[in-house]
Amino acid sequence: MKSWSFSRLEVFEKCGWRAKLQFDDRAPIPPNPKGDRGTAIHDSAQDYVRGMRDDLIPECAHFKNELDALRPLFSKGDVLIEDEWGFDREWKHVGWHGEWRTTSTLPTGAILYTANDTESDFRDVSPRELAQRDGLQRWPTHLLFMGILYEWVPAWCRMKLDFMVWLSPTKVLVIDLKSGKKDGNEIKHTEQGQLYAVGVMLKYPEVEEVVVEFWYVDQNDTKPNKYSATQAARFLQNFTARGQKATSGVYQPRPSIFSCKWCPYRPEHQGGNGICEHATGAAPRRAAPSTSSNPLFFDFGKSK
Ligand code: SF4
Repeated sequence: MKSWSFSRLEVFEKCGWRAKLQFDDRAPIPPNPKGDRGTAIHDSAQDYVRGMRDDLIPECAHFKNELDALRPLFSKGDVLIEDEWGFDREWKHVGWHGEWRTTSTLPTGAILYTANDTESDFRDVSPRELAQRDGLQRWPTHLLFMGILYEWVPAWCRMKLDFMVWLSPTKVLVIDLKSGKKDGNEIKHTEQGQLYAVGVMLKYPEVEEVVVEFWYVDQNDTKPNKYSATQAARFLQNFTARGQKATSGVYQPRPSIFSCKWCPYRPEHQGGNGICEHATGAAPRRAAPSTSSNPLFFDFGKSK
């Protein structure tokens, strides 16, 4: 794994071997109907806020007031929707896949491509696309274009925000729509929110406070958290170490009844495709459901 996102990190930390099979080997996994439903919910809510539709699918009905409140903010330019952010290993912002950056050094082993066509546009073209486009044998690592040397800087960490709302010039609200359960996912979602806070603070250094709200559309419930720049700096250290481990190329199998139970690579007699040779069996016990709920930091008329 050369790059990571929160969901990839989660897979890796549960079982490194699964991350290798899924993201490096691209071993097939069965289609996930829950994923399709999640996409439909996101599409409906986001298109509604964009003003591209005036109805919501029933799954979004609990949050109609909140989505209504976002529409005028979007029209004013205060809401980003489905924004895709990439960061390199030094946490500098790059394109979603990476970008060509000027450099003065050509390291040993570099694969240099000299683009003679001055009309060429390569800025958004990845090395793979460039190789395909221009019929190159190998993907270039460096590019000489109009006398300027560029190196390809890939995205190392990626995050995609459902909604980002400017509440003031120094305060941002991030909203993440969840179609799954809140209970049992508190730690995971809190950490995901912390990564969003890191991303916001890196991309917009002027921001002093980030509020992250998870909206559980099926349960009409929310989970809000507020973070300062100081806290985000602490999270950054933590995620740097975890991201480096996930992209180190070392994949530790962690077979357990919990990690293997839902893994698509578990044995066939357990419902998987049987690819993994490290799998273990036995079903885990179910956790008792919690009944806790949190208020919204930003009400959006929810209590009306
Ligand atoms: S079956 Fe278990 S050990 Fe194998 S990849 Fe999946 S989680 Fe890891």
